[in-house]
Amino acid sequence: MNYIYSEEDLKAWTHSHTGPFIVMGCGYGLNLSGMPLSSIPIINLSKMNRLLSIDLKQKKVTVEAGMTVFNLTRLLDEQSLALATLPEFLEVSVGACLATPVHGSDFEYTCIADLADELSYIEKGKTHKITNTDPLWNQFARHKEKVIYSVTFRCVPQFKLSKQIAWESDDLLEKYFTQDLNEFRSLTISWYINQKKLLLYKISEFFRSSEREIETPIRIHRLSNYFVTRLMAFLKTGGRPFCSKSHLILGPWQKLSYYEKLIFNLWKQKDIEFSIPKKNIFSFYQALKTLFEKQKKIPTKAIGFRWGGTRKIPHIPFWGAEEVVWVEIVSKNSAFIESVLEIAQKFSPSFHTGKYVAG
Ligand SMILES: Cc1cc2nc3c(=O)[nH]c(=O)nc-3n(C[C@H](O)[C@H](O)[C@H](O)COP(=O)(O)OP(=O)(O)OC[C@H]3O[C@@H](n4cnc5c(N)ncnc54)[C@H](O)[C@@H]3O)c2cc1C
Repeated sequence: MNYIYSEEDLKAWTHSHTGPFIVMGCGYGLNLSGMPLSSIPIINLSKMNRLLSIDLKQKKVTVEAGMTVFNLTRLLDEQSLALATLPEFLEVSVGACLATPVHGSDFEYTCIADLADELSYIEKGKTHKITNTDPLWNQFARHKEKVIYSVTFRCVPQFKLSKQIAWESDDLLEKYFTQDLNEFRSLTISWYINQKKLLLYKISEFFRSSEREIETPIRIHRLSNYFVTRLMAFLKTGGRPFCSKSHLILGPWQKLSYYEKLIFNLWKQKDIEFSIPKKNIFSFYQALKTLFEKQKKIPTKAIGFRWGGTRKIPHIPFWGAEEVVWVEIVSKNSAFIESVLEIAQKFSPSFHTGKYVAG
């Protein structure tokens, strides 16, 4: 593993290596993709992680690509700033957010790349800059020899959100796919198919006048159904939402614990995620239901649905102009994953390249 510490290091490395190499931010996506890493040289950018500039007036921040989103949110919070959307898992590198479609659930922004104005990349020892108004911006993610060195993000003043966790019957899923969901800022649903239940994470704007919210200084994680039920009973929430600063509500996951890594590897789970255009999501869901009716027990804990927004910049990478819903499946049963993917193919899926990609 070759650690890169600075722009100069990166220039020297890309200048002297002509063969293929793998770029690693934090390495989570590469692990999830099951890609064999041993035969090709790897450059690890996690130590190239400095703040390069912050303009408080313009609300713009430029950081090196190896910085984690977690550290970026921390340094922005110190200045009362925030990113308008975040992935749920913050220990990912800023570079991976531009090289893969890292996203949260958000009715306004589809992915983190939506918030970037400019980036610099290094190719064969030379630094280049590109802005999001350049028509080549949306092709950037597909270039293997270009290594992202820095990214400039637009920020917003730090804001508060509230998150309500609720169980519902899965009869209601149809309603969420067909109704207007404007009342939410973000919606994630885990469909526990075998239990015929939905676990909902509804994120809304914080209503200052309301006394309903419970102020929380901690991140409320997306937990297993058992732990969520226990936690809600323990906290006696009575269905009331938790409220806090945006990054504590939007990005609840921190480091992947040793225990979770172990479980993932022991069971050889595959985590696959793809987006379906919003206009196709109801038909996709109906096709899934037909598939599931034929099976006694579905070999996954739950299927996740996360709503994405519309893009704000003209040349957004990864998608066309359509609004999407993200679909996530974790299972160790390859045949099951393949059968879902076969159905998904009919509804114009677009794969999350920061995770396992089929085929
Ligand atoms: C527990 C967990 C939860 C997750 N939750 C979410 C979620 O909520 N939303 C979501 O969208 N994703 C989620 N993911 C997936 C994760 O966001 C992606 O896999 C992300 O790519 C990981 O970032 P990384 O820095 O580890 O990337 P890496 O694995 O290091 O890299 C991923 C890809 O980006 C390329 N790359 C990285 N840095 C650069 C660079 N500077 N220049 C050029 N190419 C580069 C790499 O070559 C590789 O192809 C989750 C993953 C885990 C493990």
